[in-house]
Parts: sequence; structure tokens; C-alpha cells
Amino acid sequence: MVIRTDELGANNLNNCDVIVIRYGELFLKGANRSWFESILAKNIKYALKDFKCDFIKSRSRAYVENFDAACIDEITLRLAKVFGIHSLSTAKKIKTNIDEIKQLASQISPKTGTFRVTVNRVDNSVKQRSMDIAADIGGFMLSKAPGLKVNLFRHDFELNVDMRENGYSYIFYNKIYCAGGLPYGSGGKAMLLLSGGIDSPVAAYMMAKRGVKIFATHFFSYPYTGEPALQKVKDIIKQLDHFIPNIQLQIVPFAHIQEAIDANCPVEYAITLARRFMMRIGLILAKKRGCGAIITGESLGQVASQTMESINVTNLCADIPVFRPLIGLDKEEIIEIAQKINTFNISIRPYADCCTAFLPDKPVIHPSLEKALEYEGKLDINALIDKAVNELEVFSIHKNSC
Ligand code: ATP
Ligand code: MG
Repeated sequence: MVIRTDELGANNLNNCDVIVIRYGELFLKGANRSWFESILAKNIKYALKDFKCDFIKSRSRAYVENFDAACIDEITLRLAKVFGIHSLSTAKKIKTNIDEIKQLASQISPKTGTFRVTVNRVDNSVKQRSMDIAADIGGFMLSKAPGLKVNLFRHDFELNVDMRENGYSYIFYNKIYCAGGLPYGSGGKAMLLLSGGIDSPVAAYMMAKRGVKIFATHFFSYPYTGEPALQKVKDIIKQLDHFIPNIQLQIVPFAHIQEAIDANCPVEYAITLARRFMMRIGLILAKKRGCGAIITGESLGQVASQTMESINVTNLCADIPVFRPLIGLDKEEIIEIAQKINTFNISIRPYADCCTAFLPDKPVIHPSLEKALEYEGKLDINALIDKAVNELEVFSIHKNSC
């Protein structure tokens, strides 16, 4: 994700009257394209629900118009976080007429420095070639401002003229790169196992970026972990809301399961067995919500419970796909994304997670399924799971979350 907030303001056009939105990968979609576009349009309208403005959808672009100029940066920032938007520009809109474009271009441009003009001509009714139009506009600008100099490769500013099929041209200097990916909600639903650590919020972000609607489950080990640990998870949900709206969080009591494991099973298998319970409960909740997959923040080899054997023993509890989008990332790479999406500072608050409460000195690194099954034979698995599922609480930061 690149949100070049540093670009906001810097090259912004004064008094711009429209925000031009460019779609990301949607151009790859054939017959389904309009379906993806309608989901994106719905998400954009939701992101802009706090602003008075018009949203106009057209072929391969969308536009936001009639907004309060004082809100431009805030609107731009909100749009930059909508998955499916590749980039946007703050622009001036004018009926396509080359003489009028020339006048406007010279009026709004700086009067000194190096520049280039780039024309994108989608409007077939304009017969001149793009390069000729660019030369024409550039020549006019030079005639009005002798302090300007053309440099196609190294310039202080680039004046873009996008001549669209709707008979209008959009004139802008900036291109703000946005969240990219596919429209949120276009890629099915999945249940995220959200721990409150650094990794799982990043996993949520990466799957949401591919269009997957996210539900979340947190295993809460009260009284071994307390209110601040739970608050941390809720704050992560709030922070993720900027990109992933309306995540519904299920808070599942987990202490009774850990106590049962602790009392009946060898300590080195405590984490392996706890993970298998998490997976089973996650699966039940996933199916209840119509989710087609589970998401975790596991990264291969990061800790004992994330070796190939550990992952396999946990994975065998699930009969739907388990997505692990961080599996090949280093911790530094994960942290970099966590910082970009602003969950990092919440995740590092020093409150114990449920696994820390019963952390063995030497957790098994290469667990076997046979042993896990043998130890689970000492537990009343169904009763433990039923209690957890029956006593869960649901948290949503928006009232109408579904
Ligand atoms: P993080 O906690 O940030 O995910 P981690 O390195 O602490 O990273 P582990 O504690 O080993 O990872 O957990 C691996 C994965 O198991 C987590 O990414 C998460 O998907 C799931 N998980 C762990 N603890 C919990 C929990 N308390 N509630 C829900 N899911 C959990
Ligand atoms: Mg963790």
C-alpha cells in the first residue's frame, strides 16, 4: 500500500473542483467488471458518508464533485484508503475545447521553472494527436510565461490533461497513489483470528486488500488477561476501520480451555492444543457467518507454534482454507505494514495475550498429530467448545454492523 499523504497539499491544485478516481486491477475483469465497479462505488459512497458531495461513476474513472473545498484533504485521505482505488488526482474540470484548456493551463500553472505537458486523449471526437495537443498547450504556456522552460524528463511540474469520453477534460498536476487491491467485499468472507499482536491485524489488511470481507474472533483468557488486553484488540478494530469498515468482533472466553489443557495434558503441548481449539472454534464461527475461509497472522518459523509441523497439526482441524498472508514475510516486513496502517503502536502495548498466560518453557517445535489426538482424548472437547461458543460476546464499533 502506498498512501503518499506527503503528496497531499504539496502539488494540490488550488481551487480544484473535482477529484478524479482511477480504478486498480478492475481493468483485468471482463464480464464481471460492472459488478466489481458497483461494489467499489458503494464503498466509496460509504467512505464519503460524512461529506456533502456528488459521486459520479463513469467508464474506468469515477469523480467526486461539489464538495466543500475546506474538506479536500480529508476527502482525499478517506478515498486513499478505499481498496480498489489505484490513484486519484485533484483536478480542474472543463468542457473539452483546446483553446479554453490552453487559457486555463496557463492561468493555473506556475510562471517559472521547468515543466512538461502530458495529454491522455480518450475522446475520439478530438482529432489532433495527444503529442500535438501537448505541444500546442505547452507552446501557449511558454508564450504567456517566458520564465517557464520545457523539460520532458526532469521537470518541476507536469501538467496533465485527461480528455475523457464524456466531453470533459480534467487538468491536474498530482497523482496520489492509494490502497490498490480489489473492492472490499468482492472476494468472499473470512474469519480472522485476531490476537492483538502485530501480525494478525496486518493479515486482516492484506486479505481485505484482496476484497475479502473480514469477521474477527479474539480468544480472551480472563482473568489471566485483563481489560487492557481486550481494549487493545478493540482499538485495533477501530484503527482497521479506516480501511476495513464494520469488522464484527467475537470475543470468545478461553480461560476454561487453557485450564483444562494445563490440568490434563503435557505442558510442552499446551500451545499446540490451544491452537487446535482456536482453529475448531474459529471454524464454527466462520461457518455461522457464512465465511469461506479462516485467516491467521502466522509466518513460517517465527515461533515454535509456526513451524511447518505445528501449522500442519493445527490446520488439520479446519475443513475450509486457512489463509496465512504473512507466511513468507520477515518480522521487519510485517512491522513496516503495521506502521503504515497505524496498528503497530496499539499492538505493542505491553499487555499479555492469552498464550502468554500458559506459555511453556519449552514448547514442542515439531508436534505430532498422534500425540495431539492422544492428549485431546483426556479432554471433553465438545463441552469446552460449547461453553466458549455459548458465552461469546460480540463487539462492533458501528451499530449496523453485519
Ligand atoms: P500476532 O499475535 O501478532 O498475530 P504472534 O507472533 O504473537 O503474532 P502467535 O501468538 O503465535 O503470533 O499467533 C499466531 C496466530 O494465531 C495469530 O496471528 C492469530 O491469527 C492467532 N492467535 C493467536 N492468539 C490469538 C488470540 N488470543 N485470539 C485470536 N487469535 C489468536
Ligand atoms: Mg500473538
